[in-house]
Amino acid sequence: MRLGRIGGVVSVIALAATMTACGSSQKTVDAEATGSAAAGSAGALIGVTMPTKSSERWIHDGDNVKSQLEKLGYKVDLQYAENDIPTQANQIENQITKGAKLLIIASIDGTAITSQLQQAADNKIPVIAYDRLIRNSPNVDYYATFDNFKVGVQQATSLLKGLGVEDGEKGPFNVELFGGSPDDNNATFFWNGAMSVLKPKIDDGTVVVKSGQTDFKQAAILRWDPATAQKRMEDILTKTYASGAKVDGVLSPYDGLSIGILSALKSSGYGTGGQPYPIVTGQDAELASVKSIVAGEQYSTIFKDTRKLAEQTVKMADAVLKGGKPEVNNTKDYDNGNKVVPSYLLDPVIVDKSNYKDVIVGSGYYTEDQLK
Ligand code: BGC
Repeated sequence: MRLGRIGGVVSVIALAATMTACGSSQKTVDAEATGSAAAGSAGALIGVTMPTKSSERWIHDGDNVKSQLEKLGYKVDLQYAENDIPTQANQIENQITKGAKLLIIASIDGTAITSQLQQAADNKIPVIAYDRLIRNSPNVDYYATFDNFKVGVQQATSLLKGLGVEDGEKGPFNVELFGGSPDDNNATFFWNGAMSVLKPKIDDGTVVVKSGQTDFKQAAILRWDPATAQKRMEDILTKTYASGAKVDGVLSPYDGLSIGILSALKSSGYGTGGQPYPIVTGQDAELASVKSIVAGEQYSTIFKDTRKLAEQTVKMADAVLKGGKPEVNNTKDYDNGNKVVPSYLLDPVIVDKSNYKDVIVGSGYYTEDQLK
């Protein structure tokens, strides 16, 4: 039904473009030159909204999406909302008012933009959810992301590897658990993926969560805020580890949180005087964290190549605007509470000291120099 609507929109756009073709010869030439945007969508404005610039990954995402769309001849309005929900809602409304023909949205709170999406639907503007699923709305056409459950599995697997469990170590190991922002649909996917690996180890006593905080609600860090994670780690260290027990591992779902967690640990004497840091995981391969991995502080991260996510999303957008059907590879896992959103999932990769050169430097994500 929704696809039919997009098809209709595209023909209307095509008709309008034909009618104004004389006035847009330059754009048409550009589109022909790149062999990309069809006459109907050539030069169309695309609204891109990203959550925040406070985390590097979203800057990469925004830059990559924008430049790749521009290469295809589209105009791009790229906005960041510094994790403020009303700001993001306003940005989306503005993009609709400015005449955007498609919206790409990495939401802050996946449930908080329902009325803006309704407005988009009323204006026949298709919507692609970027990285984070937009929930509780029928007006989301496609979703491009990484396999979020797998990210969690990888984080937990890497944690166990760091602890030596994969090599037969029996523990018990004291591990503390952190979750992402409860309003981000990805956070529960990461958590459930990680717990699918850790729960059996908790049950058989290999892993002990000494704080007792094993519920997502207790572990979740609102808006993925590093300072909140640091504070929670400090509280756990004070309440649970004051009598000399040591933390052996920390499940952290995002590099920014890992930095806060490591900083709390450092203040408590870890990382110095023969007391090594625990095994701390992460996600996003942010520069500071890859450096920390190289320095032997953070143990691992999950590399999600934002260039590839941008590429996939841009392909989707281009196909939709041309009235085609974008490629998807998952039509069952991402139920947004209203419908299952057809999705394209990319593969995340575990990165630690043993493979960062191959994976991160080898793919040109960072140069060796940047990591010094
Ligand atoms: C993304 C992660 C990121 C987190 C915090 C999640 O939605 O999938 O890659 O670490 O947000 O920005």
